Amino acid sequence: MDPLTSLSAMPKGWLLNSVLAPHADAFVAHLKRDRYSPTTVRKYLASLAHLARWMTQCCLPLRLLDEREVERFLVRHVPHCDCPRPVICTRSDLRAACAHLLDVLRERQVIAGRPQEVGHIAVTTVISALRAYFRYRTSCGDRVHGLLGVIAKPAHWSLAA
Ligand SMILES: [Zn+2]
Repeated sequence: MDPLTSLSAMPKGWLLNSVLAPHADAFVAHLKRDRYSPTTVRKYLASLAHLARWMTQCCLPLRLLDEREVERFLVRHVPHCDCPRPVICTRSDLRAACAHLLDVLRERQVIAGRPQEVGHIAVTTVISALRAYFRYRTSCGDRVHGLLGVIAKPAHWSLAA
């Protein structure tokens, strides 16, 4: 059965009357290509419907959807969600469905690519410059050697397990 037709009427309406509607079929095809079970596809599609309702309520343009907006949906809306049932509120399902959606939207060049690690690179550069400066001041006889120890390297979270 077509997963879209298997959705309950209300979530189906949320999805089909949203900015996500033109991408619902590609979303389902993406999940099927990755060999997700029909049950999971239905669950993720219902999760997408929930996101679609929230985006419609927030008037969030599709081109602005990214990881930050998904996090806003998960952290600010979902815990206080009063959307009419049936609605998926399981955060792990919503998070997974949203990640797949962002992949699909990026494949279709609807939204920008993943945010670059400019922030991490900029901080690392400043820290390197500060350390070099303090080493220079130490070589000049200034007593700033202790400051080297208090400059911490930023965590590189993308390498975290
Ligand atoms: Zn809700």
